[in-house]
Amino acid sequence: MSNRTFTMIKPDATSKGYTGAILDQIIKAGFSIKAMKWIKLSHAQAGEFYAVHKERVFYGELVDFMSSGPIVAAILEKDNAVADFRTLIGATNPANAEEGTIRKRFAASIGENAVHGSDSDENAAIEGSFFFSGLERF
Ligand code: GDP
Repeated sequence: MSNRTFTMIKPDATSKGYTGAILDQIIKAGFSIKAMKWIKLSHAQAGEFYAVHKERVFYGELVDFMSSGPIVAAILEKDNAVADFRTLIGATNPANAEEGTIRKRFAASIGENAVHGSDSDENAAIEGSFFFSGLERF
């Protein structure tokens, strides 16, 4: 079990001014920030990040959305980071997310769902390395 995960605060949440409140909830839940940047993905970069979803019907919409505005990318540390962060953010569709989760509080729809959280230790490492060099993580 690794103790790091990777997150993005997505363009819907940054544009609505939720960045501070989401970071506050993440930190209060016991995660510490090991790397962080405010960045806007190009269409090609968003397509590469989500290449695993290439065959899904929503891939085009997802890539358009994720390159539509700035995001916050971050590497987070905590015991059991991947699973605990998925619990903190809630279900993919905010309509099904538990009360108090980040997606329940801040997301509008299954597509524009405020935050990303890695689904495995392996993907957390791959996704963190997509955004951060060794010099940018602590
Ligand atoms: P996650 O692990 O909870 O983020 O969910 P998935 O890995 O299944 O999907 C990745 C991302 O694709 C989600 O967080 C959504 O932003 C987006 N997504 C998933 N399902 C849909 C959908 O039905 N429509 C659209 N537009 N986007 C979706």
